[in-house]
Parts: sequence; C-alpha cells; structure tokens
Amino acid sequence: MHNQSISELGQALRDKKISSVELTQYFLDRIKRHASLNSFITVTEELALQQAQAADQLLASGQARALTGIPLAQKDIFCMNGVKTTCGSKMLDNFIAPYDATVIKQFNAAGAVTLGKLNMDEFAMGSSNETSFYGAVQNPWNTDTVPGGSSGGSAAAVAARLTPAASGTDTGGSIRQPAALCGITGLKPTYGRISRYGMIAYASSLDQGGPMARSAEDAALLLQVMAGFDEKDSTSADQPVPDYLAELNKPLQGLKIGLPQEFFTADLDSDIAAAVETAVAEYKKLGAEVKDVSLPNLKLAIPAYYVIASAECSANLSRFDGVRFGYRCDNPEDLTDLYTRSRGEAFGQEVKRRILMGTYALSAGYYDAYYLKAQKVRRLISNDFKQALSEVDVIMGPVSPSTAFAIGEKSGDPIQMYLSDIYTVAVNLAGLPGMSIPAGLVDNKPVGLHIIGDYFAEARLLNIAHQYQHVTDWHTQCPPGFE
Ligand code: GLN
Repeated sequence: MHNQSISELGQALRDKKISSVELTQYFLDRIKRHASLNSFITVTEELALQQAQAADQLLASGQARALTGIPLAQKDIFCMNGVKTTCGSKMLDNFIAPYDATVIKQFNAAGAVTLGKLNMDEFAMGSSNETSFYGAVQNPWNTDTVPGGSSGGSAAAVAARLTPAASGTDTGGSIRQPAALCGITGLKPTYGRISRYGMIAYASSLDQGGPMARSAEDAALLLQVMAGFDEKDSTSADQPVPDYLAELNKPLQGLKIGLPQEFFTADLDSDIAAAVETAVAEYKKLGAEVKDVSLPNLKLAIPAYYVIASAECSANLSRFDGVRFGYRCDNPEDLTDLYTRSRGEAFGQEVKRRILMGTYALSAGYYDAYYLKAQKVRRLISNDFKQALSEVDVIMGPVSPSTAFAIGEKSGDPIQMYLSDIYTVAVNLAGLPGMSIPAGLVDNKPVGLHIIGDYFAEARLLNIAHQYQHVTDWHTQCPPGFE
C-alpha cells in the first residue's frame, strides 16, 4: 500500500477498497515502526484519525476531491492551529500555533489528513538536518548518512514511505537538495506561487514552500492545492493557478534544454556528472534538443546568498525575544538579561552564526560593502538566467555536488556545508522554479537531476519530469529495508 501513488490511493478510497481511517492508521503504524529515522518531530495521531473520519464522510457523500482522505505530513515550519510548531528549534519547543498557515488551511479544505510535523534544520538553516534541536535525521538509503536539509525530515519520510508525500520549503535549496539525496521528487515553485503566511520566516525574499513526493504526478496533485494568491501574504503572486495535471502528458518534441557550462566543473562528483548526462540523453530520445548556455555570475551565488539570507534572518529572528512567545530563560535579572539569555540559551550555533553575520552585513559601516553589493550580484544572477532562458526552455544540471554525506562529516565545517548549495541557491536568488527528480544511484545513493524553468513554468517542469518518469524507473526505487 505504501508504494501506491496518490492517485491510486485516491481511487482505492473512492472505490471503498479502503477507508481513510484504515489508510491513516497504516501510515501511523509505519511511522512508529521506523521511528529511528527521526523524521518526525510530532506525530499528530489523534488529529489525523479525526481528519480521516471526516474524510470518510466526505468520501461517502461523493464530495471527495483528489487529496480527500490522503495522509500527508507537514514540515514543522508551517503553523498548525493547536499543534506544536517548532521550526526545529528549542526556541519554539513550547510553541502551540494559534492559527493555520495558508498552506495548512488549503490542505485541510482539500480533505487531506495530517500525520504529523516533520523534522528540519533549525529555522531551515542547514543542508543536512543536523542543526535541528530534535537531532539528526537518517537517510533511509544509508542510515549513516544525512538526508540533506533543511527539509530533511520531509525527504526521509517520503523516501521511506512513511507518508505518501509532504510539504517542504526552499530558501536556498531545501526542497531540491534533500529530494536529491533521498531519491524523491521535489519542486520549489516560483517565488510568490505559494503563500508564505504562517510559514515561519527565514529569509523572506527567498523562502518558498513546495511539494515533496515520489513522482511528478503526485507533486502536481499537492501543488494544485498549495498554489494560489493569498491576500495575507504581500508577495503572493496574483496569477491564476493552472491545471497542473492537464499538461503532464504533453510530448517533449522540440523541447530546448540548456546545459550551463558553469554547472559542470571540477567541484562536481564525476559519477553525478555522468548520471546527469545519461538523463539528458534520455531527454534527447524523447525529442529534446540540447544546447550549451552560460551563467557567468554563478560563482557569486553562494557568497551573495549567504549575505542576503543571513541579513534577512537576523531581522526575522529578532522577534524571538523571550517576551512574546517561545523560550524564556529562568529568573532574568532585567530586560537585557531576559533578551540575551533567552536567545543565547534557545538558539543553536548555526542560527547564532547567521544572526551575527547578518547583523554585521546590515550594520551602518558595512551595508554598502556587503548587503547592497550582494543585492547587485543578485540582479546579475537573475539577468544571467533571463538571458539563458531566452535561448532555451529549461536549464538542466546537478542538484548537489555529491550524494548523501556521512552524519557528522561536514557539521564542523560551515563553508563545506554551504557549498552543498552551490547549484541551488542561484535559483532562489532569481526567484525561479526548480525541481529535483531522481536520476540514478551511485553506490546505492540517489542522484537528483535539476530542472530549472522560467517564472510560473511549474506546469512545464512537472510535464518534463513526468515524461522522464514515464520512461525511467528511478523514482520508483525504494530504499532497501523499506519495501
Ligand atoms: N542550506 C541553505 C541554508 O542553510 C538553504 C536552506 C533552505 O533552503 N532553507 O541556508
């Protein structure tokens, strides 16, 4: 049952072959059985069974929609009314959200069931899930390795079939990189496509929620529910939401694929380069044409990203002051002591590092040299993509320079960790949509293919991913022990 697609599960529900309560219980049992992966922070068992019961009534009355009665799990960055919402931090370990994020509201309205809240890097800062207050998550493909981050719990849970699909968020790669390392399909939509309301902010000009699933078809079903304008989010895009399933089967004849030479450098593991080449060759068989393109400022993406993301996070995280909500230190001597000890005791090392870097970059004497400069670089990078996407329909390349690395391998070396995002952060700086789809195994570890499209080209990306998944079976491979 856990290997079935969302549309297959939906059909089984509508045909009354199984009830949503049974399906939900099945996944809850599986989550318990594989608790050692540490992919969940909170399992919302009681709520899930209540939602499943309500979904069964909708199904009985013939009013079911595509996700009605389907169990899903949510990254613990999305506020859920009455449910502990931690963002992977000790700061919010005691925080029960008083409202639903728009994404959660939309899933609820669609009749989906929430199995629980998924582990993640603290405040979504990280590429390995090791910065979580709740501990590292194991990659089901090799439990000594990381699942990637920051949506590491989401990727591990989907890969291990503990949930049919999940939500994630991507500020600099946090949907795509863990999707690649865990062998699942992840889509970071265009900035503004999905509401950020109730999604705890890391770097507001970059943050974007998106679906993480096993196939492009399942991702399309989730995106259909998640996407849309929201007046509660001032950067939400007022654009109609297309039918993401309608274009999945469009043939790829004449598709123009661009390969940026800057993606294929010595930093890239040669086995990953080979897997990407094999995938591109498959696209040629499907009728695509391939052309070299250039992103000349790509090498500036990591430094620009880490200045901008840190600057924005230092501003966003100032709200955690020990006064209004979240952690408060014991017996503060005065207000300054309350602020400093609450923040000092509840934020982890990586979060503190980013707040310090960001505050420095925004300070009066350094603003022009760092923050303003980084914003100018950001424009150059967007222009590079604009130029490349005027020559081709999509850009393809690697998602991550390596496959899943060992737990502990990079956690002491922030620069090495930041370089995990070398292929992903530029896409966030430009606000473009990007996808990772499974495209091979190297030493039994998954490799992702990166597909980057023009603004609001999500339907096209899903179509391109789906056509590949039609002729290959990397996306159906299951980590050994989780079959
Ligand atoms: N790894 C990147 C960072 O630490 C991206 C994280 C993300 O996309 N949330 O900032």
